[in-house]
Amino acid sequence: MVKGYSVEESLRKEVPGINIIEVESINDGLQQVENGQLYGYIDNLMTIATAIQKDYTGSLKISSRLENDINLSIATRNDEPLLQEIFQKLIHNIDPEFKQATFNKWVPVKQEVSFDYSLMWKIIIGLFLLSLGFIYHYHQLRRLNQRLKKLSVTDKLTGLYNRVKMDDVLIEQKAEVDRYNVNASIILLDIDFFKRVNDTYGHAVGDAVLVELSNVLQENVRSTDYVGRWGGEEFIIVCPHIDVEEGRNLAEKLLAKIREHSYKHIGKMTASAGVSNFLPSVTIKESLYNVDQALYQSKLANRDKVSVKKGMELPR
Ligand code: GH3
Ligand code: MG
Ligand code: MG
Repeated sequence: MVKGYSVEESLRKEVPGINIIEVESINDGLQQVENGQLYGYIDNLMTIATAIQKDYTGSLKISSRLENDINLSIATRNDEPLLQEIFQKLIHNIDPEFKQATFNKWVPVKQEVSFDYSLMWKIIIGLFLLSLGFIYHYHQLRRLNQRLKKLSVTDKLTGLYNRVKMDDVLIEQKAEVDRYNVNASIILLDIDFFKRVNDTYGHAVGDAVLVELSNVLQENVRSTDYVGRWGGEEFIIVCPHIDVEEGRNLAEKLLAKIREHSYKHIGKMTASAGVSNFLPSVTIKESLYNVDQALYQSKLANRDKVSVKKGMELPR
């Protein structure tokens, strides 16, 4: 503050402990602030605004206003009481609007809203963390959904496709056959005398055998074939683009693999199979009936055999 300002005294009273440094002039004060020697410079708004507008070339701005209002006064000679009265009247008669307009002319206070970068960064970081949370949540959800989807089509014991999935596969394959007139075969496979396995070794061993047999099936079909658990110890294999003779060959191969495999605890075991095909003229239900009939034929023919019942053979 410029040396000798009357405000200094009132400020010291109002703000105990305030460190007021006196400077020689406005320019001196502004210079010291600009150089970083002083924290700020206090002056009358009109004076400082005019000084900044007129001769000041630095980069300082008026940052805030103190509450204190200082009334400016006009002094007259004390041996001219009339003059004092005239001035008193004049001042009282100044229209408030005119007063404000005059003030504004000398003190064009331009309000600058300073931008709070720290808040901006806080918001950006907040949004970033929030999106990270969303992304993490989204991936978790996607992972769980995939798992759920897999579980919904998988047979719990064997890991093969379950009946629900195989029903869908049958519908899809039937549609393919109808649309493109391509081949597709179905193999239905049933373990021979499986009840004995359970009765002799117990259900747990029976379960383990089902798992082992499932692996044998899975390892000996093409990746394009669909292997599913149709019932307790019945398995269905849907083979796209395979005609009924190729289907028979695959079934023979699978029965041989099942026959050759040695199962833990029980040793050897066989299975029977039925084969049929899809045709545009045959419904899914009819194809399933055919394959079931073929399987029944194999069981009747002393088991461990493949029988074929072609779609066309169904009496219509
Ligand atoms: P066949 O040669 O005529 O097919 O005789 P089978 O004994 O295999 O046929 P059957 O239909 O009489 O018996 C099937 C048995 O399969 C009955 C049941 O105890 C058993 N089974 C079905 N599902 C499961 C299962 O999930 N685990 C176990 N351990 N056994 C099962
Ligand atoms: Mg059975
Ligand atoms: Mg059986």
